[in-house]
Amino acid sequence: MQTEFSEKLYLDTEELSSIPEKAEKMFEHQISNWKLAVGGYQSLSSVEIKKFEFSNFTIEAHFNPGRIISSSAKVDAKSINERPCFLCSKNLPAEQKAVNAFDDYILLVNPFPIFDKHFTIPTLSHTPQLIKPEITSMLTLSSLLGKGYSVFYNGPKCGASAPDHIHFQAGNFGFMMIDHDYAELSKSNSKIVFEDRELKTSFVTGCLRNFIAIESNNISKIVSEFKRIYSSLQNARSDEEPMMNIICSYDGSWRLLIFPRIKHRPTYFFEEGDKKILISPAAVDMGGVLIFPREEDFEKITNELIVDVFKQVTFSDDDFHYLAEKMMMGEKG
Ligand SMILES: [Zn+2]
Repeated sequence: MQTEFSEKLYLDTEELSSIPEKAEKMFEHQISNWKLAVGGYQSLSSVEIKKFEFSNFTIEAHFNPGRIISSSAKVDAKSINERPCFLCSKNLPAEQKAVNAFDDYILLVNPFPIFDKHFTIPTLSHTPQLIKPEITSMLTLSSLLGKGYSVFYNGPKCGASAPDHIHFQAGNFGFMMIDHDYAELSKSNSKIVFEDRELKTSFVTGCLRNFIAIESNNISKIVSEFKRIYSSLQNARSDEEPMMNIICSYDGSWRLLIFPRIKHRPTYFFEEGDKKILISPAAVDMGGVLIFPREEDFEKITNELIVDVFKQVTFSDDDFHYLAEKMMMGEKG
C-alpha cells in the first residue's frame, strides 16, 4: 500500500534492519520534531511516584496528568461511532511518523507517554480490538521488539481507548513492577496447571491481581494454550471476548501474562465530588504501575485503596481457583 500518503507517513529507516533500531530512530525523530511528543516526553520528568511495598511485590502510583484523555475516555458504542478513529492512518496528526513493524502493523510514538519509550502499534486497517485472531501477531511483535520492550494488550472493555481499532502498545521492559517481581512471584505464589518439555502454564495469586502465566519458546503451542484459557474464561451464554489485559515479553522465549478482569472501572471512578477517584485500570496498572491523572486523587492513595481497586476489577481467589480447576479438569478429559 505505497500511496503518496503513506510515503509521507513512513520515516525512512531503510538502512536499518531490526525493529528495535527502527523504533529507536523514529523515537529520536519524533521527540525532536513533533511538538506534542516533545512536550509529552518532557513532562515525564515531572511525574510524581509513590511506592507501596507488599510482602514480595511492589506497586507504584504515578501522578501523570498527560493521561487524563485516555483514563477518562468514553468507550461506549455511541461515543465511539461519533468520533473519527484516532488510530486510522488517515486521521493521524501530520507530524506523526510510522515504521512498519510486521504484517499490517505499524509502530507509532505515543505522544501521551507512561513509559520512557512508549509506542502504539495499530494495524493499517480499521478492525475491532479483539485478541483471539491476533494473539500470534502479539507474540511475533514481542519477539521482533526483543528483550528491551514489553508488549501489552487492553481488552475493548478493559482500558483500550480505541476498542474499534486493533492495537497493541509497547514500553521499555523493566518499567512495570511485574517485569521483575514475576521471578519471585512465580517461585512462591504460583500453581502449575500444565507443564511439558516446551510449555508451562501457572496461576499466580497473592499479589492483589490474580493472573495466568504461559512460558514457552514454541509460538504455536502458546497460541493453542492461550485459546484454551480464552475458552475457559468465556461465558457460555455470550460470544463476547472475555475481559482481560495481557503483558508479553520475550527473551529468547516468551512470557505471556494474562490478567482476567471482571470490571472495567472501580466504583470510585463514577463517584462525584470528593469521593471521586479517577482511575481506569488497564494493562500497565495490572503490571503494578497505577496511573493517576489528577493530583487530588494521587494525594488520597493508601494501601487499602490499592487493595480495593484491584479487588473490584480482577478475579476473586475463589473464582480464580475455580478457573484453575476447570483448566486442569479439561486437561484430563
Ligand atoms: Zn481506525
